[in-house]
Amino acid sequence: MSGSHSSANSIPFLDLVTPHVELEQELTEVFQKALRTAGFIGGPMVEDFEKAFAAFCEASYSVAISSGTDALRFALMACGVKSGDVVVTVPHTFIATTEAISQAGALPEFVDIDEQTYNMDPAKLVEYLERQCTVNDAGALISRRSGRPVTAIVPVHLYGQMADMDAILELAERYRLVVIEDACQAHGAEYFSRKRNRWMKAGSMGRAAAFSFYPGKNLGACGEAGAATTNDAAIAKTMKMLRDHGQATKYYHDMEGYNGRLDSIQAGLLHVKLNHLAKWNAQRRERAAEYNRLLKSADGAVVCPYEGLRSRAIYHLYVVRTADREGLMEHLKTAGIGSGIHYPIPLHLQKAYAAMNYRKGDFPVTEKTAAEIVSLPMFPQLTAAQQGRVVEEILNFTSMTARKQVEADAGTLTSADRRA
Ligand SMILES: *Cc1c(COP(=O)(O)O)cnc(C)c1O
Repeated sequence: MSGSHSSANSIPFLDLVTPHVELEQELTEVFQKALRTAGFIGGPMVEDFEKAFAAFCEASYSVAISSGTDALRFALMACGVKSGDVVVTVPHTFIATTEAISQAGALPEFVDIDEQTYNMDPAKLVEYLERQCTVNDAGALISRRSGRPVTAIVPVHLYGQMADMDAILELAERYRLVVIEDACQAHGAEYFSRKRNRWMKAGSMGRAAAFSFYPGKNLGACGEAGAATTNDAAIAKTMKMLRDHGQATKYYHDMEGYNGRLDSIQAGLLHVKLNHLAKWNAQRRERAAEYNRLLKSADGAVVCPYEGLRSRAIYHLYVVRTADREGLMEHLKTAGIGSGIHYPIPLHLQKAYAAMNYRKGDFPVTEKTAAEIVSLPMFPQLTAAQQGRVVEEILNFTSMTARKQVEADAGTLTSADRRA
């Protein structure tokens, strides 16, 4: 990951330098405190951050963990996902989602996404549960594809946009499945639960949830970091043991665990930055609203993110879709504007998962989405002027493409006329 600072005319995809320069004094004090107490592992810096992060997520407990990937793995394991189980998720996500499932000993199986939200489509989940599973004599739900028991669902709140949790939780209840949220891109995103009749935060709705504090995330460490949240004391306790060699008391190992702790310096740095997260998220929402407004001039050549009435997204990424994605990215690059693709190859078509025997065409919405999406510059410090330039270049490109299309159509017509 590069933390490239914006030079005179270029606009970075992400500016990680400015927020750290702004907070340099406070962040440096964290290092000094750790150095002077040699409090590097565990201790009050970790515990204070955990309390503050749980409060931010409106969850009862948070457990600081070495990465988002490990947080998701420990959350799955603590929620009872066992070796040989099937865990249902989406193919349109970062591979860490399925790595965590595999590393918990389970097998990921996919359902397609919704074409507006890019998150798990509850209708596809119903179809999977009804048509691609059977119930065996013991009453267990068995996947026809793998012959294994389906025990959990991992919805991913991709780009900081909430998955449709009411529908997913209701299906989970009906089929007695546990729901573990992949909230690695959704620190502070909110969803209006009809069932509870109130707004709820990402990470407070599933049995447990995982967050990543990779530097580029909305809340990022100065290194690797993650956390899991839950409202269940027993699950929190198990996750704490899993991250620390299966011990609650030093050298009394109730099970085998991992070395998955978060170090104290990162926890301290995260605590400083957490105090700014609500403001940063609000700034991202303002930038997103401004992109939406400005991009109306593209006359539908660029499709903006969809945010339902029951969702308050925190725009970890601002993702648009357009027919000639490669052309647009090339144009932006020439203009000195950063962009990205999240993600270009759906998981079911990755080489790593060739043995799963999924084929092209299995998840058409994911495949079409992956071919058309592009992530535009998005970070709290993005200025209105920078944003204006990004959109100006997008409009230059779309009008140029439209003009070429008109010329090409006219050309076809002329030769057709000539033939007639
Ligand atoms: C970043 C991310 C992860 C993994 O987090 P790490 O901290 O990098 O291990 C998992 N899932 C999603 C959707 C992510 O974006």
